[in-house]
Amino acid sequence: MMKTVINMTKLEELTSEIRTFCEERDWTQFHTPKDLAIGLVGEAAELLELFRYKNLEESLSALEEKREAVGDELADVFFHLIRFSDLYGFDLSDELRRKMVKNAVKYPAEKVRGKNLKYDEYE
Ligand SMILES: [Mg+2]
Repeated sequence: MMKTVINMTKLEELTSEIRTFCEERDWTQFHTPKDLAIGLVGEAAELLELFRYKNLEESLSALEEKREAVGDELADVFFHLIRFSDLYGFDLSDELRRKMVKNAVKYPAEKVRGKNLKYDEYE
């Protein structure tokens, strides 16, 4: 059902490609924190739209039938995430690792294994 895909392209390379793409189009002027955040959420909503009104089985079918469209929206989300981080000085790898440490404290494995409650709903 699930495919594991690991691509070792460095975030640094992707960031540089996006930077060049935006500079060639003089788009930096439009990339305020607010507008990049709106873009990020908008693209995530476009991803969600592909699964709207579908149950689990239909969603899994849509995932295969609309694989390119799903990939397009994942890429759009990733673009905004990388662009925001690049322009405003966030190291995505560091931020992710830092947040995962917080998450590990919030969600101790022995306490939450197999459960999907929010952190403040555990005893
Ligand atoms: Mg899109």
